[in-house]
Amino acid sequence: MVTVSPSSSFPSSIIVGNGATLPVVGTGYSVLPGPFRLDNVLVAPDIIRNLLSVRKFTTDNLVSIEFDPLGVSVKDLRTRNTLLRCNSTGPLYTLQLSSSTAGSCALVATPSPTTWHRRLGHPGKATLQNLARTSSIICSKPADDSLCHACQLGRHTRLPFATSMSRASKNFDLIHCDLWTSPTISVSGFKYYLVILDDCSHFLWTFPLRVKSDAFPTISLFFAHVSTQFGCTVKSVQCDNGREFDNSASRAFFLAHGTTLRMSCPYTLQQNGKAECMIRTVNNITRTLLFHASCLLGRCSCHCHLYSQLPPHQNSKHEHPFLRPPWQPPLLS
Ligand SMILES: [Zn+2]
Repeated sequence: MVTVSPSSSFPSSIIVGNGATLPVVGTGYSVLPGPFRLDNVLVAPDIIRNLLSVRKFTTDNLVSIEFDPLGVSVKDLRTRNTLLRCNSTGPLYTLQLSSSTAGSCALVATPSPTTWHRRLGHPGKATLQNLARTSSIICSKPADDSLCHACQLGRHTRLPFATSMSRASKNFDLIHCDLWTSPTISVSGFKYYLVILDDCSHFLWTFPLRVKSDAFPTISLFFAHVSTQFGCTVKSVQCDNGREFDNSASRAFFLAHGTTLRMSCPYTLQQNGKAECMIRTVNNITRTLLFHASCLLGRCSCHCHLYSQLPPHQNSKHEHPFLRPPWQPPLLS
């Protein structure tokens, strides 16, 4: 049985003694009686005799080969016992294979991981490695990290979301809100926290909540805080479709304050991406401090403050929140 495995890991052709170039169509392995294993066998259909690299054969099987006028002997490198003796005549030394072992000596090309990936319906790298580990499949080389174009196209569930470049021109023209649910309740009894991000300044507030229904009262108190401390009215609120933001009481409140409620489209979390990213950032700080200093959940306001003290990422187009009035630059020392 000969199976051809197109791959870029072996030479496309070999040059034989008369100078002719013979195409190589695959690679594989072979087992000779002994048993001796031949790895990286090149499949060249046009070659008239199978050629064996003595150095590769002795290295892979830890044997020595002795040539004499009558033939060739393969000996164990350590014990010097003769493992195989083949007498031959003519200009070449040949390995004579018995008919009982001819079947196992048939050349079997080993497909590459890329070929298996295509044959098996484009499974992931871990699945292929698992199959190779359990000897369900034999690969000619370890799986690589090359990208599969068909996978990239076939596994996409949606097109990439366009990056938003919009930015409010004044503080509190637009705030982003989102609610995060903790898998555990904090020692203070908080299970949620509300994130409010000012689109213009990127200043961030977080409020720990015990129940989801506390979200809207907290937002209304935030409106009062903004009005009293900054003399501003929040003009627009961006949030997802959570009922804690969209209910009759909140709609009446926003209507009374002339505030526009901007809801994300269903299954389009990206439209609330700024708040979602802030939640991830605050959670990262929280988890890091938790592991390092055992700071417990419920300190998210403190972690939010830490975030606001730090300069933005070097790739960020946003300036430091504290550099915008009415806030002052932080003193970190
Ligand atoms: Zn694929």
